[in-house]
Amino acid sequence: MNADVIVIGAGIVGCSAALHLAEAGISTLVLEKGEISGEASGVNMGGLGGAGWGNSPSLQEHLTMGSLNVFKKLQNELGYDLEFRQSGSFTAVHNERQYTYAEQRVLEAQNNGFNLELISTYEARALEPELSPDILGYVYSHYRGQANPLKTTRAFGRAAIQAGVTIETDTEVIALTSLNKVWIVETNKGVHESDTIIIAAGAWSKALGKMVGAEIPIEPVVGQMWATEPVPPRVFGTIGSFESRFHWSEDLAAGVGSLPELTHSGSQRVTRHLYGRQRKSGEIIFGGDRRDVGFDKTIDDSGIEVNKGHATEILPLLTDLPIATTWSGLMPFSMDGHPIIGRLPHNENLFVATGLASSGFGRGPGAGMLIANFVVQGNAHPALKESDPARFTD
Ligand SMILES: Cc1cc2nc3c(=O)[nH]c(=O)nc-3n(C[C@H](O)[C@H](O)[C@H](O)COP(=O)(O)OP(=O)(O)OC[C@H]3O[C@@H](n4cnc5c(N)ncnc54)[C@H](O)[C@@H]3O)c2cc1C
Repeated sequence: MNADVIVIGAGIVGCSAALHLAEAGISTLVLEKGEISGEASGVNMGGLGGAGWGNSPSLQEHLTMGSLNVFKKLQNELGYDLEFRQSGSFTAVHNERQYTYAEQRVLEAQNNGFNLELISTYEARALEPELSPDILGYVYSHYRGQANPLKTTRAFGRAAIQAGVTIETDTEVIALTSLNKVWIVETNKGVHESDTIIIAAGAWSKALGKMVGAEIPIEPVVGQMWATEPVPPRVFGTIGSFESRFHWSEDLAAGVGSLPELTHSGSQRVTRHLYGRQRKSGEIIFGGDRRDVGFDKTIDDSGIEVNKGHATEILPLLTDLPIATTWSGLMPFSMDGHPIIGRLPHNENLFVATGLASSGFGRGPGAGMLIANFVVQGNAHPALKESDPARFTD
């Protein structure tokens, strides 16, 4: 099949890009090696949102707040049930050193026009009654929200198809060649042609780049989660901890030849990261570990245990709720920790949108929209300067 644009990958980034291309009247084909939402986009925690647009929006705001607008459009205008709601988020501050750092960060954010507050445990428990009274305080963001990741990414796929996109699943791209300004895309099921390609292949993007000699320095980072059995509604916002943020702020050795902001160095734990919420169907779910172990998704049981202990410090009701299920997925981390969204140098009409790491569900719709607009308009939104893939080659 021929199309103006071929998008590789039907995760949240690829499906959003395809939807926005089709809305602009561009014929679009999505090629997916598995199923729609079969990887990270379908198994994540479902947390999303930012802290407002601020006084001078950067790429981060275009990704977080821009995505929030797309979530609202899909649910409120197009009528898809994403289980999306702007529930607010509570980030627990565990000790005095974290508190001092949190105070500085919140003040700085407020001075830059963002909507963040450091609230007392007393105030937090008025909004989220199950929070532990023994925590020092909570960073509260009222913009942050949640949605069902599988329902949402599939809804993006359905909306794209509704707008005219073709999505071929179980179709793995195995070779890319450019011939007389036409891209020849070879798959396990046949060959397709297009003028333009967008690589939205998440943790697998590096391999796609290699097919054309392009540098896309993305590594898979395994994240794992667990869930309780369903219980009546007890937890309303998303819940996190400031512990990892504080650790990474002090971790001066990080980033030299290794991926930034991981919970483990080799097999050694260096910090505890935490995020969770209660699903509409009742299960309380949590996760947080980020390990650099290649494409191996095997669950690390000791990590699940540490994560449950951490979550229980913040939500004591978890003490009596055993773990019912666990699962894992692969997050696309870039070597410098920043997204890679833009045109790849030295290859005509070859684009990439990835590197959204541990927050690609909440930022994916915006990334897809920005890359689609770049292809349609022929020039990049100024915010994409920060994510230009050329930074790795020039
Ligand atoms: C446990 C866990 C919890 C998380 N929690 C959150 C959270 O709360 N909030 C948040 O914002 N983010 C969260 N994330 C991160 C988020 O899920 C990812 O950043 C995001 O889903 C990445 O989307 P993507 O479309 O880039 O990649 P993916 O969803 O991985 O999609 C890429 C697709 O490309 C396909 N593909 C790859 N190679 C090929 C090929 N050669 N040919 C055809 N198709 C190919 C893959 O099969 C895949 O379907 C979490 C991730 C994990 C694993």
